[in-house]
Amino acid sequence: MWALDLDGVLWTGKMPIVGSAEAVQLLRHVGHEVIFATNNAFATEQAQIDKLASFGIEATGAVVSSAMAGASIVAPDERVLVLGGPGASEAVEARGASIVADYRNGDSVPDSVVVALDFDLSYERLRGAVQAVLDGARFIATNDDRTYPTENGLYPGAGAIVGAVQAATEVAPIVCGKPHQPMADLVTQRFGTEGVMVGDRPETDGLFAQALGYKFELVLSGVTTQADLPVEPAPASVHADLLALVSERV
Ligand SMILES: [Mg+2]
Repeated sequence: MWALDLDGVLWTGKMPIVGSAEAVQLLRHVGHEVIFATNNAFATEQAQIDKLASFGIEATGAVVSSAMAGASIVAPDERVLVLGGPGASEAVEARGASIVADYRNGDSVPDSVVVALDFDLSYERLRGAVQAVLDGARFIATNDDRTYPTENGLYPGAGAIVGAVQAATEVAPIVCGKPHQPMADLVTQRFGTEGVMVGDRPETDGLFAQALGYKFELVLSGVTTQADLPVEPAPASVHADLLALVSERV
């Protein structure tokens, strides 16, 4: 089983990394299952599949996101307030839980608050999430990435919004995405306990490989460069990019 990080492994921003689609095809051709592990909780599952398809990669049923990881610890009978985008809401609904539109003091308290990257963040939405957590709702974060890279520099990530809720409530969230255990459990339950995790960030993908019990393979097509080596956790091997790694393995 090969689990691949997306940004920095298959593409950087909107630009494909040369050979990455070919590498996925090679892995599948020799019989390896390939899945895609992303902390992107904003996009719906179909939007992620469509983006991969636009890079020439078939991914139906093979995307595992931090939104799914966050929803995996929600029970089907829960009422959930989502401070996040369509991907987070979709994942919560896919669990069978019901979504609470807003919360005010005096309303019946939701069981959980799921916080994710939210491009429609507003003071009112933040207030609802904070009040629900203060009144006893469980505080779940899809992921805690403080920023994410864009062609216009770093933008605030889910972790920045999670941090706002944490600052107001003084409650620590249960964080679910890479490199945390709920997403690792989701991957191993669905795809097995033996595999390879390929990523460009040791502090995320390397630690995630440890949580999975998978081998960590580092590629230098993303944020880590030759000058950063050696890194912790130590990868099984280091390659320029996914195609270089896969060409050696298949
Ligand atoms: Mg990456």
